[in-house]
Amino acid sequence: MANVEYLNKRFAEAKPEEILLWCWESFGELAVTTSSFQSQSVALLYMISQVVPKMPVLFLDTGFHFPETLAFRDALTEQWGLKLVNIRPEAFITQENLTELRSIDPDYCCLHAKVAPLQRALADKKAWVTGIRREQTFQRQNIPCFMETTGGMLKVMPLASWTQAQLSNYIQTNHLPAHPLKNAGYLSIGCAPCTIPVVNEYDERSGRWSTYTKTECGLHTTML
Ligand code: SF4
Repeated sequence: MANVEYLNKRFAEAKPEEILLWCWESFGELAVTTSSFQSQSVALLYMISQVVPKMPVLFLDTGFHFPETLAFRDALTEQWGLKLVNIRPEAFITQENLTELRSIDPDYCCLHAKVAPLQRALADKKAWVTGIRREQTFQRQNIPCFMETTGGMLKVMPLASWTQAQLSNYIQTNHLPAHPLKNAGYLSIGCAPCTIPVVNEYDERSGRWSTYTKTECGLHTTML
């Protein structure tokens, strides 16, 4: 395992693209990224297409996504030549099971539809790249650029320190597309049954699990 303290110092002032390149040169295809293919995702996906186009992009295909998200995923994959890998829940977890689970306990639904499938997909990988940022949620406010997960994998967050203004500026400068539902007020988009347009204009994730206290699916909390 790389020394995360050293890496956080070495790349403290680095551009996200430099970090992505280091990941690829260090781990090759054992470095993967995950993406939910929403408006916020396009910056990291575009950087990957420009700098490390062969890096696998894992998409958690829960079966509950908006059709617009799937169409956006397919369009970006084709346009940018991304190496998309769809990750599905175990075959015995049916949509009926998940629908019932979600209504009783969304954490349990996320565990079976997202966390467990991703844990299996990452089991033989060395580095996991994700586009999460400190500004996004209370739980993310102290994330470093590099950390080691409890499973001993290197988690890499090249955009950790980016503000919403930096992200918007990058998207605008590079003329990157927005998710088709953005103009309808969906600023953070996950599974359709758990996502509505933002209810608090100052909180981009306020449309997620809006009737629950839940704010995270568990990928960046359970899988630390
Ligand atoms: S976001 Fe909702 S539908 Fe998707 S896995 Fe979590 S609880 Fe289930």
